[in-house]
Amino acid sequence: MCGIFAYVNYLVPATRKEILDILINGLKRLEYKGYDSTGLAIEDPDDTENSFKILKQVGKVSTLAELIDARLSLDLNKSFDSHVGIAHTRWATHGQPSVVNAHPQRSDEGNEFVIVHNGAITNFKDIKSFLIQRDYKFESETDTEVVVKLIKYMYTTHEGQKPPTFHELIEIVVAQLEGAFAILVISKHYPGEIVATRRGSPLIVGVKTKSKLNADHIPVLNSKDLRGYFMSNSAKKEDEMKKHQIGPRKEIEYFFTSDPSCVIEHTNQVIYLEENDIASVHAGVLYIHRASRYANERTHREVQTLKMEIEQIRKGSYSSFMLKEIFEQPESVVNTMRGRVNFDTKEVVLGGLKEYICEIRRCRRLLFIAAGTSYHSAIAVGFLHHSNNRETDL
Ligand code: GLU
Repeated sequence: MCGIFAYVNYLVPATRKEILDILINGLKRLEYKGYDSTGLAIEDPDDTENSFKILKQVGKVSTLAELIDARLSLDLNKSFDSHVGIAHTRWATHGQPSVVNAHPQRSDEGNEFVIVHNGAITNFKDIKSFLIQRDYKFESETDTEVVVKLIKYMYTTHEGQKPPTFHELIEIVVAQLEGAFAILVISKHYPGEIVATRRGSPLIVGVKTKSKLNADHIPVLNSKDLRGYFMSNSAKKEDEMKKHQIGPRKEIEYFFTSDPSCVIEHTNQVIYLEENDIASVHAGVLYIHRASRYANERTHREVQTLKMEIEQIRKGSYSSFMLKEIFEQPESVVNTMRGRVNFDTKEVVLGGLKEYICEIRRCRRLLFIAAGTSYHSAIAVGFLHHSNNRETDL
């Protein structure tokens, strides 16, 4: 899988050129993972019809960078106190590599909602038929476009009523999705905001600020804790929320990415999002919430310090990335277990499978379809199954 990257500056003035450089550089750090196309979206408040400009193409990140001047025709020296930009390297799962299939994907020609996505949505066909029946037209072959159009559909069903907050809207949508995803969404209906969520694909948030962070962890809120908060003027409620949030009313920058190597040159303060976390930035404040919280779930996410140096991202003394990855395996294994293995309770939680354990237990036959390392893992599990002559314990 490829990569996603977002940059949010709040009360930190930056020119369009600086913002684009950060996005392009973020994509360059993702290149080693392999990809077939690239793209990005930035704000354009001067354009009343399309509040975002989207640029995408097939091929190298350097080619995307070269197209900026010619295709965006924007004043690159214009400065923004606050801004949200998203970027993507795609490795196609649904639809061939092409400009229209590259990300960001959009909800409509007016770019009301814009999304980047890593992963694959397995029930996209059902959702697509549902939307086609409601007159939605699709321009790409991707599963991702289905998600962003579903966001628009859910948004319009609230027309005439009090609109949901951005994170509530995304929460309603991801509840309909099956498969693996890390997504970043921006919208002209929620200017200056971003929502990020993941299931089965990694996602981290880097936090950069000159002042000391006002918390070393961030509480995980039940969605209903926040309901009405943004609409309310209650100073007391606001103070209460501020106490344990990161970044209210101070200069702050956020980086959302699938890969820590994109963040380390900006900050070493990161938060690893867990399965089904919904992170959002609203008025410079970072919130993490979940639709429902289970009794034994952790109630906060720590701000961790990345130990990685920028040199580690590069090939270092290794002659190839393959060799480097082979030698990094012990560390990668530990990282892979993060958020999945609880060493205190000795429990393993596989997010993507958790909801289906009952069905899987009832299966008479399990098929693993895999290539490379996953193929070898599948062989190992198959052997376990045969040697025990019983169903593998889940
Ligand atoms: N499934 C999406 C697509 O094919 C995203 C693939 C990716 O992770 O890059 O466009």
